[in-house]
Amino acid sequence: MASQVFTYILLFHFHLYIIHAHQFKSIHKIPSPLKFLNQLSGVQKGDNVKYVSDLKKYLSYLGYLIYNTNSNEQRSEKDNIFDSSVELALKKYQKFYNLNITGTLDANTMVKMQEPRCGMPDFYRPDKSAVFPFHMISYYSFFPGHPKWRKKKLKYAFNRNMKEELKPPLEHALSEWASATPFRFSRVSNLSQADIKISFFRGYHGDGQPFGSKDAGLAHTFAPPDGRVHFDAAQKWSSKGEKDAYDVQTVGLHELGHALGLGHTRILKAVMYPIVHEGERKGLHEDDINGIKALYKF
Ligand SMILES: [Zn+2]
Ligand SMILES: [Zn+2]
Repeated sequence: MASQVFTYILLFHFHLYIIHAHQFKSIHKIPSPLKFLNQLSGVQKGDNVKYVSDLKKYLSYLGYLIYNTNSNEQRSEKDNIFDSSVELALKKYQKFYNLNITGTLDANTMVKMQEPRCGMPDFYRPDKSAVFPFHMISYYSFFPGHPKWRKKKLKYAFNRNMKEELKPPLEHALSEWASATPFRFSRVSNLSQADIKISFFRGYHGDGQPFGSKDAGLAHTFAPPDGRVHFDAAQKWSSKGEKDAYDVQTVGLHELGHALGLGHTRILKAVMYPIVHEGERKGLHEDDINGIKALYKF
């Protein structure tokens, strides 16, 4: 009898746990800032459809297209035309992400665009030529002008209200970069004294890239010698490898790569690849190390 009651209590609690877990998941379900993509299914060259201008803005933000995103300007009639520049930008995007190069917004491309990613662009100088860029760089990249640190001893600090449990994995990421480079990192208590300033923010946080918008991603970082590293506090972050959250050590390793001067790579296994999934853990890859070596010439 006692064991029956116990089993019942256990089952009841398990049931509650499932309900709770379900609610938890829905609370943490963050609406996609790229919802407009669903309105563009099947759109092709020559079509004039609402939301094409949003697609142009997004591709322009990521560096695949030159498009004037000044929202104060009168919207032109041409803004929603799926023209050859969109087709070329999609081809370039598809090449970067190893998709079939169709130049249309096909199902695989729409899925890829909605995958969780870093908020930094993939390219900083869109190819102005009308010729398809077959010579695309296929590995590590840098920021325009190759900005980098002029010293090897860098100070870092965490923002005051940051969760304690997220600090050790980020320090682990710093030590991983230190083991592959001559950089040495030391912690200081105040952001204002630090070279690398790590913060978690929600929504608007004063740098024009509000989290939750299509340009902010899960995290973003300012090139050297700025060193601000921002994570979206509204996302679920994991410090111990939980499967249903983003691994803060991996995303940290990626963002700290930006803080040291690296851009994105199209090598899937490299940590500087722009897309990351829940539960995914990565370390430094040969491509990441070759990139940092090439930038600092060591
Ligand atoms: Zn990135
Ligand atoms: Zn920010």
